[in-house]
Amino acid sequence: MPADTTHSPRLDIHRRILDLVRTGRARTRSDLVALLHASASIVSLRTRELIDSGELIDTGPLSSGTGRPSRGLALASSERTLLAADLGTYHARIGLAKAHGEVIDLRTLKIDSSSGPKKVLDLLCATIEEMIADNINSGMPAAGCIGLPAPIDHKKGWVDSSSRLRGWHHFPIADLFSARLGIPIAIENDADIMALGEHLEHPELQHSITVKAGGSIGVGVVIDSRLHRGATGAAGDIVHVRMPAFGDLPCACGKTGCLDTVLSGLALARQWSQAVGSPQDLEDLLNADFNADSAALDLLRTAGSRLGEALSVIAGLLNPDAVFIGGRLSTSETFLAAIRAALYTNCHPLITKNLLIEATSAGIDAAFKGAVASAASIAGLQTSSPHVSSRTITQTARDF
Ligand SMILES: [Zn+2]
Repeated sequence: MPADTTHSPRLDIHRRILDLVRTGRARTRSDLVALLHASASIVSLRTRELIDSGELIDTGPLSSGTGRPSRGLALASSERTLLAADLGTYHARIGLAKAHGEVIDLRTLKIDSSSGPKKVLDLLCATIEEMIADNINSGMPAAGCIGLPAPIDHKKGWVDSSSRLRGWHHFPIADLFSARLGIPIAIENDADIMALGEHLEHPELQHSITVKAGGSIGVGVVIDSRLHRGATGAAGDIVHVRMPAFGDLPCACGKTGCLDTVLSGLALARQWSQAVGSPQDLEDLLNADFNADSAALDLLRTAGSRLGEALSVIAGLLNPDAVFIGGRLSTSETFLAAIRAALYTNCHPLITKNLLIEATSAGIDAAFKGAVASAASIAGLQTSSPHVSSRTITQTARDF
């Protein structure tokens, strides 16, 4: 029968050492001796065990006045905490995770992005400060990443579009968060972090395209396992591609006949409402599709074909290993099958020869995982984001 290590004194002192170093209360072995009321030999032994296991690092001699200098201790980078957030139009998922992948706290907030950035960001900041206080033993996050459903100027740290997230254009989001939380913050497009998170789930892949197909359509591109944002951060922004088959409905961008006017969740809900003759939303359409309603099947088949045609141009250009479909629409097998068929019809066989075309395996957590990886990157940390398991996220999620 294996020994019960739940209350092992050795593991308990390991945990207490990590907590003291993480929270900055102990910087040296001498600090640990004083704070733990333990002998120097025990502290030395347990500290060595943590260094050998890769959880602590010895940072070398600290400068001191006289006498033999103490050697510094620090948390290994994989143990550092990171902040990650994925904002939608009406919901936000915010979490703290360690760079090695363990989720510390994850919450879902109701927001209304149309109320403007100041109100939403105040609410987010208050929630983040509460999370940090509730998990004080995890220490301050080393950095954070926030995903937003809009074109992003990554360098400036703001939304770069007056037609998406109205009122957010050029509002200094990253600067505001950094100033309030005192840590570096990156802003990313939501489809981009979803693409990064999904790509990290498949370490065997080199190039992938991920489509976020929900309320709106976004595409993230990963080349050589690195996010490709493009010259102005708009790489993969195909929603304003115009084709004759898309008709001439007015689009939020000011033009007519964009892909977004026929394929976004809102556009599909409008078409389904017209077909049924009463107000319907995207969930109603997906339910009808699940129940094999022939009109719903036709509508989603047409939508999937149109998206597949647009994606075939990108696939032909980039020759990816995989095309992943995420977001609410990815739950429709009809939609996925139509995308697959359009890609096979419109791409050269060399492009589709080994092409993986499937729903995202990380699902709703892909964007969160990508945000953790992005935050780790700006903090200069190694991340093991692929190992942020859905099970871990579900267990630690706290919805309110
Ligand atoms: Zn448009």
